[in-house]
Amino acid sequence: MNNTKQAIKDYELMLLNGARYSGNSQNNKKIFSASMLGSDLLQAYYKYKYGYTEDTKFEANTFGSIYQLGVDKAIENSDMFSLQYKSALRHEVKLPNGWTISGEMDQIDTKNKVIIDNKVTTSTTIDSIRKEGKNHNYGLQLAVYKWLLYDYQKNVLNQEPDEYKTMLAIIDKKHSLFSKKIKYDMLTFVEINTYSLEEIELMLVNKTNELQQYIDLNEEPPMCENLFWYGQKGSRKPMKCLHYCDFSHHCKYYKNSEKDTLNILMDL
Ligand code: SF4
Repeated sequence: MNNTKQAIKDYELMLLNGARYSGNSQNNKKIFSASMLGSDLLQAYYKYKYGYTEDTKFEANTFGSIYQLGVDKAIENSDMFSLQYKSALRHEVKLPNGWTISGEMDQIDTKNKVIIDNKVTTSTTIDSIRKEGKNHNYGLQLAVYKWLLYDYQKNVLNQEPDEYKTMLAIIDKKHSLFSKKIKYDMLTFVEINTYSLEEIELMLVNKTNELQQYIDLNEEPPMCENLFWYGQKGSRKPMKCLHYCDFSHHCKYYKNSEKDTLNILMDL
């Protein structure tokens, strides 16, 4: 018997399963993933304390993962390029302070020596990436990949390492040919001139040390800073908490309900 309601549920579940987070999801593990360098310390603290919970509905993260899976398949299908790109290379390096830095690089262009990270976002975010460059959280994530790839070449491949360039391959999800305000191509590339290997390592050591201090004291770091406030005065919403945070159900600023969250945050 036809059952479109079940078909919808199955389809969404299939997408969520296929796009599942591939990093460490357990709690109490001293694993610091590449995206944590540019994210707020409070989110890193929650990830350590509670682990990572899988998405239960199609969100921005799922969209990004599906783009990544599509690129992987496109490379696999391309006789011309299948050897040039290496997809989803995961590598880990343990720091002397006990934290393991971990990351999975979306694509590595081994011919042109460029690490490419795929993102799905809007032109507003592309503006801020271009403005903030290496200090944008996507830029800092790429910095960690550069540092990890250098170590991988040296200590796993046992070869003279190359210092790779870093770049974002961004899909503008709001792109429309009907819009008069088109700013960027639907697929836009932004090169990030990132930090030196020494500077990246120092940032990783400092941030993991800072996180460890909060863990040792069993004390939560301060509230996240840029919450992407959106909307008119009086009804503004912290979009980061509502749509881009995997730890909101643990967060005291997001306690009990969405309504309370808004009240708590808007009092600040
Ligand atoms: S709910 Fe908001 S303040 Fe709390 S951890 Fe998430 S982004 Fe930060």
